[in-house]
Amino acid sequence: MQLGSKHFDSSIPYPKALRMKLVRLLLSASLLLLASRLLPAQQPTPSLVLEGDVTPDQNRTHFFVPFKVPVGVHRITVDFSYTHREEKTTLNIGIHDPNGFRGQSGSNKDHFTIGPGDATASYIPGSIPPGEWKLLISVSSIRPNITSHYRAEIRFNSPLEDSSFTLTPLDTHARWFRGDLHMHTAHSDGSCPNQSGVRVPCPLFLTAQAAANRGLDFIAISDHNSLAHYAEMRELQPYFSKMLLIPGREMTTFYGHFNAFGITQYVDYRVAEKGGRTIDQVVADILAQGGIVSINHPMSPTDERCRGCGWTPPTPTDLSKFAGVEVVNANRVMDRFWDEQIAQGHRLTAIGGSDNHSSPYGDDIPTAIGHPTTAVMAQDLSVASILAGIRAGHVFIDLAGSRNRLLEIEAHTSKTSAHMGDTLRAENGEQVELTIHVAGCNGSQLKMFVDGKAAGNPQTLSADDATPGFHWTGIEGRHWLRFVVVDANDTTQMLSNPIYINF
Ligand SMILES: [Zn+2]
Ligand SMILES: [Zn+2]
Repeated sequence: MQLGSKHFDSSIPYPKALRMKLVRLLLSASLLLLASRLLPAQQPTPSLVLEGDVTPDQNRTHFFVPFKVPVGVHRITVDFSYTHREEKTTLNIGIHDPNGFRGQSGSNKDHFTIGPGDATASYIPGSIPPGEWKLLISVSSIRPNITSHYRAEIRFNSPLEDSSFTLTPLDTHARWFRGDLHMHTAHSDGSCPNQSGVRVPCPLFLTAQAAANRGLDFIAISDHNSLAHYAEMRELQPYFSKMLLIPGREMTTFYGHFNAFGITQYVDYRVAEKGGRTIDQVVADILAQGGIVSINHPMSPTDERCRGCGWTPPTPTDLSKFAGVEVVNANRVMDRFWDEQIAQGHRLTAIGGSDNHSSPYGDDIPTAIGHPTTAVMAQDLSVASILAGIRAGHVFIDLAGSRNRLLEIEAHTSKTSAHMGDTLRAENGEQVELTIHVAGCNGSQLKMFVDGKAAGNPQTLSADDATPGFHWTGIEGRHWLRFVVVDANDTTQMLSNPIYINF
């Protein structure tokens, strides 16, 4: 499908009252988030500070500053600074672990991190052996009358570095951000034609570039079970200054696939009925690291073509630990599974993923990057905020991957109101008014689903920026109201998350 011709713009007009409420919602959410988010200024205090002076007699020499790394450290982050740069003092840095060289960045990077699967470009990722590490300082230049003071802040196991490849949000304005949460590269089974036309493992950069070309705000590259793709993602994040690269991983078991977002440490994925782990154990490890999990393509068949593609856990699995489910995988809508879980009380946020395996090659196939696009309302463009938006259910899915379509829902009773993803209290017989905002779908139809079943008459959208209203009369107990936009062929164009009633 072709992209919409309009460029997405957060200033697209929609009802002022709805817009103000969305902003208020985000402001209140942001207060909660502040407690858990680690902005640069709020990075943990250094585990160690190494300081000293460099004098002119050290010009053009190298020296080590040793420090102890305790057992249990999986990531080291260094911030290096020194005085008298303006007088042309130049100190180059590098680092050695107890076994030898782990990288050097000269004078071009004063901040670096080394983790199990990723490291700042110039540094070598891998395990962090405890013992004596050494910061290498190479005195490239210092004038005869200068004494330069250096300071290296060392942090162990920084949660921000563990979950993100950028220290700061790429966009600080609250709005809908559009992305693709499921794709594969050379680091698992992604492939594309090489210079000779032979299909080979496809470089990750091509996937990221293709996503940027589609105008996406974020992507999660979710190679199967590996950490190997994170090194390149960390290298690429500074280049893709407008597109957030979210650490993703498809936990690929014989009994179902699910994505982990926001973690960079290894998790043992080997679920097995005999001698293996349970899905609950794998999920617990991911949550302990601060990540979230979402079930992938739950209604895919599981057979000899793809063992484990469907969701068939061998032991009872606690779905309350999952944040989401991939309700749209490529062009396949899997809402029945989703509704069944909500009926059990599990508020799984519907997200989408292209499951692209071929970077930009295959834009004409259902799994083109950005098909579908998942739109997340977030206070800024950071991993923490996008994942918080997913957890909260402030998400709709745009199957065409447009840059401009919107599907926003507000529900209210005489006493209270709620947005998509939120809970509304409604007593028996109480009137619930729903205001929907649909942009970019003139001529399409909007359908309401109550408890997973079509309810009431669809409404035809008669403008490019439409605000149809629906009513629902409260019934005791749990219910969920969600909306779908369909075209003239009844093909789903957009899918909302629910307003949860009495959950
Ligand atoms: Zn899969
Ligand atoms: Zn996949």
